[in-house]
Amino acid sequence: MGIIFNILSFKLKAREKTVTQKESKKLLLEKLYEPYKKCFLCPLATPTRKFVVFGDGNPDAKFMIIGEAPGKDENEQGIPFVGKSGRFLTKILTQLNINREDIFITNSVKCRPPNNRKPTAIESKTCKDILMINQINIIQPKAICTLGSAATESLLAKPIKMNAIHGTTLFYDKIILFPTYHPAYIMRNPKKRDQFINDLQKFFSLFDSK
Ligand code: URA
Repeated sequence: MGIIFNILSFKLKAREKTVTQKESKKLLLEKLYEPYKKCFLCPLATPTRKFVVFGDGNPDAKFMIIGEAPGKDENEQGIPFVGKSGRFLTKILTQLNINREDIFITNSVKCRPPNNRKPTAIESKTCKDILMINQINIIQPKAICTLGSAATESLLAKPIKMNAIHGTTLFYDKIILFPTYHPAYIMRNPKKRDQFINDLQKFFSLFDSK
């Protein structure tokens, strides 16, 4: 009985610790976002911006996914990857048994570029320095999957060729950085779909996601 009680109380304490860590990271993220809810530090602060789309998911996630930038639906709802390519990504995650609530999803820039153009170097650098780096520091994921060249180049701070590096293990500040294609590119190039799914499968096999 004594041993069972000790095991149960140990398990309970471990759970309490996890909840506290998750809660404290959530508060830190909220504190980080507060001054930037109406950010005007780069040209993406346009009159059509409805939301700065900070991120979504588990603040204590082991896995982080970083896309390019919010699109129309994301700008309207304030949540990343909820539009067409987001639904496509979510469907593949579900196929791989990955729950969006267990991981953390964000973008390299948090405001929608006009006509969904690629973020410029200055937009990318500004948002990286004030938000993305700090999000990574707070969440401390074990591995980051970058979707597309914009997010990958932003974190690696150099140009890349996605065909050459997708599905390989690189590093950002001692954290595994795993680049793959952007879901919008895969929707336009369905022949690459299997490679994309294989990459994501490999990424999520790096650790247990819970
Ligand atoms: N939606 C996002 O949130 N990010 C992208 O990169 C594309 C669509």
